[in-house]
Amino acid sequence: MIRISAGTAACMGLKEIRAQVKPTTAYLLWGEHCLMGCTFCPQSRESLRLPDRLGRVNWPPFSLAELSRGFQKGEAGGLKRVCLQGVRGREGTAPLLEILGRIREATDLPVCVSAWIDHGDEAARLLEGGAERVSIALDAATPRVYRQVKGGSFRERHALLLECARRWPGRVGTHIILGLGETEEEALCLMDSLYREGVTVALFAFTPLKGTPLAGKEPPEPPSYRRVQAASYLLQEGRLALSRLTFRQGRILSFGLSPGELREALAGGKAFETRGCPHCNRPFYNERPGGFLYNYPRPLTEAEEREAVDLVLKAAEEGGAFHEGNLAPGT
Ligand code: SF4
Repeated sequence: MIRISAGTAACMGLKEIRAQVKPTTAYLLWGEHCLMGCTFCPQSRESLRLPDRLGRVNWPPFSLAELSRGFQKGEAGGLKRVCLQGVRGREGTAPLLEILGRIREATDLPVCVSAWIDHGDEAARLLEGGAERVSIALDAATPRVYRQVKGGSFRERHALLLECARRWPGRVGTHIILGLGETEEEALCLMDSLYREGVTVALFAFTPLKGTPLAGKEPPEPPSYRRVQAASYLLQEGRLALSRLTFRQGRILSFGLSPGELREALAGGKAFETRGCPHCNRPFYNERPGGFLYNYPRPLTEAEEREAVDLVLKAAEEGGAFHEGNLAPGT
């Protein structure tokens, strides 16, 4: 049995729902009864065990035969990648390797495996077993937040992430959730260092979910999320140096750019689209349809782009003064 996100299942012809935006990646979830105690996650041992939930998304169960059959229709419907996520189970990554083999028999789409691994050799087995990429989720941006919301050692996870990124350049990613108690500065310093190591960072917004210990906590404020999204995009693209950003009490005070330069650097709206593995758009993973779109699962309209950039500019203006300055050398 494998769980398939409702939007993916619809794309594969396995379920009838009307999706506002189709996924461009097939999202699969294996396992129940996660050993981790993450206080934001419905799969964790600290939650009410809602096996069909992860993020805001429903994950109905299907057989592996149904999954295999679904790829043909899914590819015709626009799927460009497979994301196989696993909860942390007693069997380690062995069940994921088996499912990976079944996926490889059914499709040539590149596969990313996002799972708990204990050491680099487990990542090696997944990559040798047909995964194009692996993701080792940090989720939290600092050791302090990690301890509070996940328990355990941020430093160990971080070291493993870097070890894997160095062993397999361009094939390793991580997930960072904003809004768990980190400052904008802490999140951006971490992301900047990860980009330098060639790690792909997928940004998520903390989402309060029923049945989890953090159900009553507020999601991140939209202006703050937009600021970090904008800055992290420019850092990732090499269009802004971390040293140009200034912060006050952990919040971005200035991008070191004039409003015109910032608007020009963010033109096109890419900064506000879902980022992570190629073709990963995670529709409505963090958002209610009709609510604030933390990550756009599709290109922005001109009006949406204007609105998103206005929010970054407004927030920066309120925080302090814009600096006159140029984009990083080479832009
Ligand atoms: S970035 Fe997207 S495709 Fe990659 S592991 Fe994360 S959710 Fe899966």
